[in-house]
Amino acid sequence: MSDDERCEEYLFKIVIIGDSAVGKSNLLTRYARNEFNPNSKATIGVEFQTQSMLIDGKEVKAQIWDTAGQERFRAVTSAYYRGAVGALVVYDITRTSTFENVGRWLDELNTHSDTTVAKMLIGNKCDLESIRAVSIEEGKSLAESQGLFFMETSALDSTNVNTAFEMVIRDIYGNIS
Ligand code: GDP
Ligand code: MG
Repeated sequence: MSDDERCEEYLFKIVIIGDSAVGKSNLLTRYARNEFNPNSKATIGVEFQTQSMLIDGKEVKAQIWDTAGQERFRAVTSAYYRGAVGALVVYDITRTSTFENVGRWLDELNTHSDTTVAKMLIGNKCDLESIRAVSIEEGKSLAESQGLFFMETSALDSTNVNTAFEMVIRDIYGNIS
């Protein structure tokens, strides 16, 4: 391996957006630290977490940003979106209003991004099947109509969490290599 190859490094900024309490912070802590917090309050402090994965033998780092609770006040800043090449747009499958607001989040993302952004629609809390309010079909068809990947996840029991993040990261990598 030459020095050039050894130094080759990829760093992708990914943002997580969606209404308050859909599980954004828990998706991130599940992916980055394999932790879940049953009574998490508004996220304070850490702006992002970095997680690495290997693709084609290369280390690819994802710097994943979590809103510090600003979404409650509809005040996610443009700095949050700046430079993002991937986005997870999250709703809660037990709350229809969070699904209805997905369009608004996509508009905001599009307004603030100037490059191609790999986007995935995430229906989180799929462990709560008994109180589901948004069907898988509704999620799928919205994603298809908007050209997004789609997955249902559970930050609580870990279903599809790694898969979702890794799909986005692979797509970004595929777009630049
Ligand atoms: P955020 O405001 O979007 O960052 O949401 P949080 O990650 O703070 O989660 C809001 C609430 O939903 C917390 O009480 C979490 O414990 C809970 N929660 C998050 N993800 C899941 C999940 O996949 N399943 C269930 N049952 N609860 C979840
Ligand atoms: Mg949060």
